[in-house]
Amino acid sequence: MRRSLIELYIHLVWGTWDRHACITPDIEEDVYNALIAKCTQHGCAVLAVGGTFDHVHILIRATGVLNIPTMVHDAKGMSSHLITSKVKPNHFFRWQGGYGAFSVDVRSIDNVIAYIKNQKKHHAERTESQYLEYYLTAPDPKPDAATGTSLETGVHAGGLSS
Ligand SMILES: [Zn+2]
Repeated sequence: MRRSLIELYIHLVWGTWDRHACITPDIEEDVYNALIAKCTQHGCAVLAVGGTFDHVHILIRATGVLNIPTMVHDAKGMSSHLITSKVKPNHFFRWQGGYGAFSVDVRSIDNVIAYIKNQKKHHAERTESQYLEYYLTAPDPKPDAATGTSLETGVHAGGLSS
């Protein structure tokens, strides 16, 4: 077979700053649409997006070159900017600095989509995956005092919430 095929499924998860209840029902759709738009712009298909008032999950399919740190940085920045400058300017909205990115087996796609779409139910019933939700409770890395750069993500801390 000489044809090349790239098909990678990645489950992304990240939270709001200090788990603040920023993603209120009135802005949830705008936040999700901004995240979908940015992931799509980076060449990914978004198979599912969901979450609760303090975090999001996104399942993407990548079929080519993908720079996950840049895509997540851009998705956070775009959604945050949209909410704080246009949709609800007086509303506190900020993402946490880090994120989790997990590979997904193609045979598990349907389960992951269901898991993401039923986030509110999972969290209400406390049946969420502790493994997948781990990154939400990990403390944000403190920016390096000299450079203002997060050591964990290599991303300028100010850029994540602007
Ligand atoms: Zn969750």
